[in-house]
Amino acid sequence: MAKAGGVVALVLGIVAGLFGLVMYYSCTATLLGHCFQYGYQSVGFLGMVFGGVLFVVGIVLLALPEKEPTRPVQYYPPPVAYFPPPQPRRQPPAPAQAPPQPSDQKFCPGCGNRYPAEYKVCPRDSTELKTVQ
Ligand SMILES: [Zn+2]
Repeated sequence: MAKAGGVVALVLGIVAGLFGLVMYYSCTATLLGHCFQYGYQSVGFLGMVFGGVLFVVGIVLLALPEKEPTRPVQYYPPPVAYFPPPQPRRQPPAPAQAPPQPSDQKFCPGCGNRYPAEYKVCPRDSTELKTVQ
C-alpha cells in the first residue's frame, strides 16, 4: 500500500513541519514586549526538517507506481506452459466398411423374409423385394 503510506507520510510531514515551525517561533522569554529567547528553536528546527523529509517521502511514495514493493512478487509462468505440446492430430479412424445397415437389405412383402440388397425378387415366391426402411 504505497499510496496509503505516502498519504500518511505526507500528512505527518505537514503536521511535523507546522509543529516545528510553531516550536521554532515559540517565544520562551519576552522582555518589554520583545521576544529575546526562542527556547525551542533547535527542537522546532528538527521538527521542520523531520516534517520536510516526511513530506518528501510521502510525495515519493505517492509518485511510485502502485504495484510496488512489499507484496511478494507473483510469478506468472510463461503462457506457453499452459498449452500442452501440440499433439499430432489423429484422424478418427474412418469406418473401413459401413456396417450392414437395415436399409441395405430388402424384404419380401409376401413372406416377410429379408434378403441382401442385391436380390431383386424373392427366391421363394418371386415377389418383388422392397427396401427396408
Ligand atoms: Zn418371399
